[in-house]
Order: sequence, then C-alpha cells, then structure tokens
Amino acid sequence: MRSSTDGVFTNGELVPYGPIELNPASAVLNYGQGLVEGLRAHRKEDGSIVLFRPAENALRMRKGADRLCMPAPRVEQFLSGVKQTILANKRWVPPTGKGSLYIRPLLMGSGAILGVAPAPQYTFVVFVCPVGHYFKDGLSPISLLTEEEYHRAAPGRTGDIKTIGNYASVVSAQKRAKDKGHSDVLYLDPVHKKFVEEVSSCNIFMVKDNAIITPLLTGTILPGITRRSTIEIARNLGFQVEERLIAIDELLDADEVFCTGTAVVLSPVGCVVYHGRRVEYGNGKVGVVSQQLYSALTAIQKGVAEDGMGWVVQLN
Ligand code: PMP
Repeated sequence: MRSSTDGVFTNGELVPYGPIELNPASAVLNYGQGLVEGLRAHRKEDGSIVLFRPAENALRMRKGADRLCMPAPRVEQFLSGVKQTILANKRWVPPTGKGSLYIRPLLMGSGAILGVAPAPQYTFVVFVCPVGHYFKDGLSPISLLTEEEYHRAAPGRTGDIKTIGNYASVVSAQKRAKDKGHSDVLYLDPVHKKFVEEVSSCNIFMVKDNAIITPLLTGTILPGITRRSTIEIARNLGFQVEERLIAIDELLDADEVFCTGTAVVLSPVGCVVYHGRRVEYGNGKVGVVSQQLYSALTAIQKGVAEDGMGWVVQLN
C-alpha cells in the first residue's frame, strides 16, 4: 500500500510489491527523515486473522512524525492501510502455530530538498512478509553482549521514537556481537554508562525475588508496545512490576532476564556478557516467570485467550 502527500494524507492505493522510485535528493535518503513501525498478524484456528494493538503503532508513528516535522497518516488511515495490505496478502499469513505475517509501515520524507529542513513531500508505505521466530532457536534463551563503546541513543535526541537513523548507529555493534556468537547487544545509558537501557530491537526486563523490573523510560529508550503490554499482563497476574533505573550489576544478579518486542515477542535471556564477565541465568532453561508471561502474552496476541482490554483486532 502506498500513499503520497505534500500535506494531508489521503487513503492509499494497493500496488504490487517491488522497488519504489525515490528522488536521489529526497530528505529520507539524505537526512534520515523517516520512521518505521512493526506489527505482526496471526491466523487463528478458524482461519481468521488478528492484529495486536495496531492503534498503538499508529500513535507511536504520529508521535515520531511530530518530532521529525512530518505529516502523518491519521490513526484510521494507518489502520486502514495496514488492514488493506494484510487482506490483499492474506494467503501469506502462515497457518496457526507456523509463524506470523510481519507488517512494516514506513513514513518518509520522499520530496527533494538540499539542506536540513522538512521535505516538501511525504510517502507512507506498508509492506508485509511472513516470518517465523526472530532468534533462530525460538523460545530457547538468547545471549547478549553488553556494548561498551557505543550507545543506542543520546539524551535530547531520538531514542524514544522509531526513526531509521537510530538503527544505522547500532549496525556495527550488532554485527560485532553476532560475529562473537551472541544473539544481540545490550545497551547501557550514555551518561553514567552503567544503567541498562534496551537491546537493538527490544526492551529488557529482569526478575528478582518474584518482582519484575524494567528500565524507566528516560527518553533514550523506545517505549515498546510489547513492553507496556507485558507490564499490564504481569500486574493482572498479580506480579509486582517496577519501572526504574537498573544498574548493570543488578541485572547480572537477577533471577531471570527477558526481552520483549513485536519481532522477538518475549525472549528469555540465558546469558549476559559484561566487561568479559559471563553471567548465566536459568541453566539454559526458560525461567518460570518468563514462561508464564510468554504464554499469557502469546495467547492474547494469537487470539486464543480473551484479553478483556480490547487489544486484539479481528480483521476478517
Ligand atoms: N526497542 C527498540 C529499539 C525497537 O526497535 C523495538 C521494536 N519496535 C522495541 C524496543 C520493542 O517495541 P515493540 O514492543 O513496540 O515492538
């Protein structure tokens, strides 16, 4: 689905998947004026398709657009673009239990401009791709390498929105971690260099003495939709959940650690390496709390359990 505008977005048109034409002087290519979102659609046993909290993605894109001086699709337009694209590709939504359809909405300054200023034209695109597990071993525990040179975001910059430049700055750290056999990178805060922030594309949680703790959103962390949902689910299950600063030493002393995100869903962490020290959690097994939250979250996302909160949107 594609829609372009020089002001207010209109409803988009469905076009076959393929390369899009972009002016070499476009703001997105030259100055990074672009935002992405990510959602997953699941097929239920009865063949119908469900989405998880898609309006939250629309709102996060609008917030990012505001920060980057871009017009954004209204929530209804975003939802309609996402739904139309999924329904036009519904044969690609895997059967229940065999994966999901990843949905990637993109908003970009597609108009030509030389000089740092808002683009004269914008394009909103939605494309989809069937996916399985983000980490190759599925729910088995992942390994994180703590990054000691680079930070994911800096205070007063754009760490709390889903803008494309945030990802460019972490490719090298991600590659280094993968080259060393780790699944992903754990970032520390850029000021004190000791508080845990997040992972390349997911938020982080720790469990200590049955309390669930996740870093406070200080402006350099992306407010994940799965993070917020996990907090609400955990509270509904009776857990005490705290949002506060977590020093790396405290994380290394946790009973369980897990990550949350649309792509990673809820992935248990089996090992964190910091300053050459390797700390393992759960003896290679998924922790009890991580497993309980994973089951509760995925049952809602797949439309198997009632969420009671109107989080799941039925598409057909
Ligand atoms: N942090 C970063 C940097 C991310 O890219 C993502 C993925 N969107 C997340 C956290 C998790 O966010 P969500 O749960 O909304 O997918």
